[in-house]
Amino acid sequence: MPLLSVKDLTIYFNTDEGQITAVEDVSFDVRRGEILGIVGESGSGKSVSTKSLMMLNGRNSQISPESRLILETDDGPVDIASLSHVKDLRLVRGHSISMIFQEPMASFAPAVKIGKQMVEQLLIHTDLDKTTAKARSIEILSRVGIPDPELRFNQFSFELSGGMRQRAMIAMALSTRPKLLIADEPTTALDVTIQAQVLALIKDLVAEFDMSVILITHDLGVIAQTADRVAVMYLGRIVEQGTTRDVITSPQHPYTQGLINSRPSLDHFEDPLTPLSGDLPSPLERPQGCVFHTRCAHAIKGLCDTQKPPVIGVAGQDPTDEDAHNTSCHLLSPSASEQVLVS
Ligand code: SF4
Repeated sequence: MPLLSVKDLTIYFNTDEGQITAVEDVSFDVRRGEILGIVGESGSGKSVSTKSLMMLNGRNSQISPESRLILETDDGPVDIASLSHVKDLRLVRGHSISMIFQEPMASFAPAVKIGKQMVEQLLIHTDLDKTTAKARSIEILSRVGIPDPELRFNQFSFELSGGMRQRAMIAMALSTRPKLLIADEPTTALDVTIQAQVLALIKDLVAEFDMSVILITHDLGVIAQTADRVAVMYLGRIVEQGTTRDVITSPQHPYTQGLINSRPSLDHFEDPLTPLSGDLPSPLERPQGCVFHTRCAHAIKGLCDTQKPPVIGVAGQDPTDEDAHNTSCHLLSPSASEQVLVS
């Protein structure tokens, strides 16, 4: 039984220009003790999908009635999509699920000392008393590699360096011992050395705290270093999913191939980069059929621009298998191959 099972998640936003579909029919599982990477350009729906797990998408958003967000909690499975009361949401937010962001300043109130914020969070989400909450906060600041944690406990977030602030944010997110940590571009604002340290820290903490992580990033290098499995998103849909090794060494979807080809290679750094052509379409003008067809060099006229590609297991794999390598592209469907041969 996975810790989290997301099935057929569709999210709309009501805007002044009309209703837009930000996420469409997204399904993925997160198993206990694993890091699932979600990768894609900005606007691909990766943050919107995960924010829905904490109901953080705002009042103009709407989840379709078919969407299921089943989280295993201490009290049994809970469908987050069916929660509406603040009391019920608290069971999830900060208790079962915590989130960290690219910019730690967004997580800390600038005029309140870090320790006070950590203790307040623990008093809200756990049964700890104030003394124990303080002890746990200092202990976890130390665990994430912050030197002199008692001193940092009594400082404001602006007194810490960027890397230290990121560690403090991770400490605050983990202090409630969540089952699932959502890390949204947690290292994008950091230089490469600190980035590597923070990613290594997240990996260590997964094992130590027996938790799972959803790691959101636009950077396949971060995925390669950190994630066990990866889901590639484009314009609100998952276009490819599988173990990190399978997806990175044998990408099947033209979009995943484009993402990989647009990255510099350390082995062949003199090779020219091949950027993805075209721009992400506006969600107000969402393409019919395969959402990638307006940028795809392999698009099959009359098929890709009209029919949504099904989810297909690569090399005959059963797409429902736990570690299956899946993609949604007509090129892999036998009927499309026949159509290409005929035309
Ligand atoms: Fe390209 Fe068609 Fe495959 Fe979409 S379904 S990625 S347009 S070949």
